Amino acid sequence: MSIVNAKEIMVEAAKHGYAIGAFNITDLLQFEAVIDAAVEKKAPVIVQTSVKPSKFLGTNMMVSIFRTLAGSAPVPVCLHLDHCTEIDYCKKCADAGYTNIMIDASKQSYEENIRPPKEVVDYCHKAGNISVEGELGTVSGVEDQVKVAEDEAQLANPKQSVEFVERTGLDIFAPAIGTAHGVYKTKNPKVDFDRLATINKMLNGSGIKTPLVVHGGTGLSEEYIKKLLAAGGAKFNVSTELKHTLIDTKFEYITAHRDEYDPGKIDVAVRDATRKAVMHWIDMLESAGKA
Ligand SMILES: [Zn+2]
Repeated sequence: MSIVNAKEIMVEAAKHGYAIGAFNITDLLQFEAVIDAAVEKKAPVIVQTSVKPSKFLGTNMMVSIFRTLAGSAPVPVCLHLDHCTEIDYCKKCADAGYTNIMIDASKQSYEENIRPPKEVVDYCHKAGNISVEGELGTVSGVEDQVKVAEDEAQLANPKQSVEFVERTGLDIFAPAIGTAHGVYKTKNPKVDFDRLATINKMLNGSGIKTPLVVHGGTGLSEEYIKKLLAAGGAKFNVSTELKHTLIDTKFEYITAHRDEYDPGKIDVAVRDATRKAVMHWIDMLESAGKA
């Protein structure tokens, strides 16, 4: 049984101080590459789609690919819907077979951010073995449906985080701690490691109940990643890096082989480059051999 929800593999990760890589994909090649990398590294893995590619390919197509690839993989695989602001679409993906759903109401006021996650949690728990992720505070940068300027970014308040998780019933939680979506403008972005550690202690100090998610993985240095692991990060989202890998690899291949008309070779190049990038992340997150 290799199809899992995010919480079950994250609880194990949090207990043992490693993290699960959660990789955003937009097509079949990337999907295959992420699972190939996880199989090669014997690592549990999360494949995630943001709302746009999920709607573009269709939920049933996504889930069919997921079930085909994950069903025969000898490692646990979760399919996660990332940053969805629409309750109905969250429910649609849950019905189709996604195994983790992120409802993102974080742009709304604190009180208004409670109801949507609560509704999605109730729905997913009734529907079956589906875990739900929510976010408090705002992660800066651009994410599919959510755009936040860096100076508007607000970090998660620890006390409020505990109350938020209790009132919503979330399975996994993404507190804003200063990481950002997209490409970091500086080599040393301001990340509040202590805030993550405090929230982790308050939520999971007496046993792992609600493992924590770090958004904005792309561009974080290995030093930062190790500190975030130590502070309780149990899932790292990596999106922008794989988009760049896809587009840059295609561009470089086509530029170097301008007279060749063999799409399969471009696909092989993209799949290889993506697999290598994902394997590197799995090593940094210390989840190799944990499947
Ligand atoms: Zn994110």
